[in-house]
Amino acid sequence: MSAPTQLACPTCERSIVWSEEFPFRPFCSERCKMVDLGAWLTEQHAIPGEPVDSAPEAAGPDAAQPRD
Ligand SMILES: [Zn+2]
Repeated sequence: MSAPTQLACPTCERSIVWSEEFPFRPFCSERCKMVDLGAWLTEQHAIPGEPVDSAPEAAGPDAAQPRD
């Protein structure tokens, strides 16, 4: 016998089984699926760290000033 895989809903951590009983697996319900999707999208918007410019910081503030 192959027992159905047990896992926890990533959103609410309720334990479910990988079967037709849970059409929204690995989530326990559509609601949890949407919650996780929303969280994922939010994370995509909040990109950690700002894009680092390739300008060499070692040049110092003087490099930014016009020297004519
Ligand atoms: Zn859930």
